[in-house]
Amino acid sequence: MNKNIIKTCLRIAKNHLPNHQRKDGHKHYTFVIQENKLVTWSTNKSGTMINGTRYANYQMYHSEFMACKLAKGLLNHQLPFEIINIRMTKSGKLKNSKPCPKCQALLKDFGCKVVVYSTEEFSKMHLGEH
Ligand SMILES: [Zn+2]
Repeated sequence: MNKNIIKTCLRIAKNHLPNHQRKDGHKHYTFVIQENKLVTWSTNKSGTMINGTRYANYQMYHSEFMACKLAKGLLNHQLPFEIINIRMTKSGKLKNSKPCPKCQALLKDFGCKVVVYSTEEFSKMHLGEH
Protein backbone atom coordinates (compact mmCIF):
# COMPACT_ATOMS: atom_id res chain seq x y z
CA MET A 1 0.00 0.00 0.00
CA ASN A 2 1.53 3.33 -0.93
CA LYS A 3 1.48 6.46 1.19
CA ASN A 4 -0.62 8.46 -1.28
CA ILE A 5 -3.64 6.26 -0.76
CA ILE A 6 -3.39 6.79 3.01
CA LYS A 7 -3.24 10.55 2.38
CA THR A 8 -6.30 10.29 0.13
CA CYS A 9 -8.20 8.46 2.87
CA LEU A 10 -7.18 11.03 5.47
CA ARG A 11 -8.41 13.82 3.20
CA ILE A 12 -11.77 12.11 2.63
CA ALA A 13 -12.22 11.50 6.36
CA LYS A 14 -11.31 15.08 7.22
CA ASN A 15 -13.68 16.51 4.60
CA HIS A 16 -16.48 14.29 5.77
CA LEU A 17 -15.97 15.01 9.47
CA PRO A 18 -18.57 17.83 9.82
CA ASN A 19 -21.18 15.55 8.21
CA HIS A 20 -20.52 12.55 10.44
CA GLN A 21 -23.74 11.15 11.80
CA ARG A 22 -22.25 10.81 15.29
CA LYS A 23 -21.95 14.36 16.54
CA ASP A 24 -20.30 13.63 19.88
CA GLY A 25 -19.33 9.99 19.70
CA HIS A 26 -16.37 8.31 18.07
CA LYS A 27 -15.94 9.01 14.39
CA HIS A 28 -14.59 5.95 12.63
CA TYR A 29 -13.83 5.55 8.95
CA THR A 30 -13.02 2.35 7.09
CA PHE A 31 -11.57 2.39 3.59
CA VAL A 32 -11.30 -0.67 1.36
CA ILE A 33 -8.20 -0.63 -0.82
CA GLN A 34 -7.31 -2.91 -3.72
CA GLU A 35 -4.26 -2.47 -5.96
CA ASN A 36 -3.66 0.95 -4.38
CA LYS A 37 -7.09 2.14 -5.41
CA LEU A 38 -9.95 3.10 -3.15
CA VAL A 39 -12.79 0.62 -3.69
CA THR A 40 -15.27 2.05 -1.20
CA TRP A 41 -15.46 3.52 2.31
CA SER A 42 -17.87 3.97 5.14
CA THR A 43 -18.30 5.37 8.62
CA ASN A 44 -19.69 3.97 11.83
CA LYS A 45 -23.25 4.94 12.62
CA SER A 46 -25.78 4.75 15.41
CA GLY A 47 -28.15 1.83 15.68
CA THR A 48 -28.48 -1.51 17.35
CA MET A 49 -27.13 -4.46 15.43
CA ILE A 50 -29.31 -7.50 15.86
CA ASN A 51 -30.04 -10.84 14.29
CA GLY A 52 -27.64 -12.64 12.04
CA THR A 53 -24.54 -10.60 12.68
CA ARG A 54 -21.73 -11.29 15.06
CA TYR A 55 -22.45 -7.89 16.61
CA ALA A 56 -25.72 -8.83 18.25
CA ASN A 57 -26.81 -6.13 20.68
CA TYR A 58 -23.99 -3.73 19.84
CA GLN A 59 -25.20 -0.14 20.08
CA MET A 60 -23.37 0.80 16.93
CA TYR A 61 -22.77 -0.17 13.33
CA HIS A 62 -19.00 -0.39 13.13
CA SER A 63 -17.41 1.23 10.08
CA GLU A 64 -15.69 -2.06 9.16
CA PHE A 65 -19.06 -3.79 8.95
CA MET A 66 -20.55 -0.99 6.85
CA ALA A 67 -17.56 -0.91 4.49
CA CYS A 68 -17.57 -4.68 3.99
CA LYS A 69 -21.27 -4.52 3.15
CA LEU A 70 -20.58 -1.87 0.50
CA ALA A 71 -17.49 -3.69 -0.84
CA LYS A 72 -19.43 -6.86 -1.66
CA GLY A 73 -19.52 -7.18 -5.43
CA LEU A 74 -17.00 -4.35 -5.90
CA LEU A 75 -13.89 -6.28 -4.90
CA ASN A 76 -11.99 -8.70 -7.08
CA HIS A 77 -11.76 -11.61 -4.68
CA GLN A 78 -8.95 -13.19 -6.74
CA LEU A 79 -6.70 -10.37 -5.58
CA PRO A 80 -5.63 -9.31 -2.09
CA PHE A 81 -7.11 -6.19 -0.56
CA GLU A 82 -6.40 -4.04 2.46
CA ILE A 83 -8.31 -1.99 4.98
CA ILE A 84 -7.41 1.49 6.22
CA ASN A 85 -9.07 2.47 9.48
CA ILE A 86 -9.13 6.07 10.64
CA ARG A 87 -10.63 7.56 13.77
CA MET A 88 -10.74 11.28 14.33
CA THR A 89 -11.88 13.68 16.98
CA LYS A 90 -14.24 16.52 16.09
CA SER A 91 -11.22 18.70 15.41
CA GLY A 92 -9.56 16.14 13.15
CA LYS A 93 -7.00 14.70 15.54
CA LEU A 94 -6.14 11.08 14.92
CA LYS A 95 -7.10 8.49 17.51
CA ASN A 96 -6.56 4.78 17.87
CA SER A 97 -8.79 2.91 15.44
CA LYS A 98 -7.57 -0.64 15.87
CA PRO A 99 -10.46 -2.92 14.83
CA CYS A 100 -12.33 -4.57 17.70
CA PRO A 101 -12.13 -8.39 17.92
CA LYS A 102 -15.50 -8.78 16.19
CA CYS A 103 -14.39 -6.63 13.27
CA GLN A 104 -11.04 -8.41 13.07
CA ALA A 105 -12.91 -11.70 12.70
CA LEU A 106 -15.31 -10.17 10.16
CA LEU A 107 -12.48 -8.74 8.07
CA LYS A 108 -10.61 -12.04 8.16
CA ASP A 109 -13.71 -13.92 7.01
CA PHE A 110 -14.11 -11.36 4.25
CA GLY A 111 -10.58 -12.17 3.04
CA CYS A 112 -8.68 -9.13 4.29
CA LYS A 113 -5.14 -9.84 5.39
CA VAL A 114 -3.78 -6.36 6.17
CA VAL A 115 -5.27 -3.52 8.21
CA VAL A 116 -3.59 -0.15 8.55
CA TYR A 117 -5.10 1.86 11.38
CA SER A 118 -4.59 5.25 12.92
CA THR A 119 -3.13 5.51 16.40
CA GLU A 120 -2.98 8.23 18.96
CA GLU A 121 0.08 10.34 19.03
CA PHE A 122 2.07 10.71 22.18
CA SER A 123 3.47 13.89 23.59
CA LYS A 124 6.46 14.06 25.86
CA MET A 125 7.02 16.43 28.76
CA HIS A 126 10.02 16.82 30.97
CA LEU A 127 9.18 17.53 34.59
CA GLY A 128 11.39 19.54 36.85
CA GLU A 129 12.93 21.67 34.10
CA HIS A 130 12.41 25.36 33.43
ZN1 LIG B 1 -15.63 -3.31 15.45
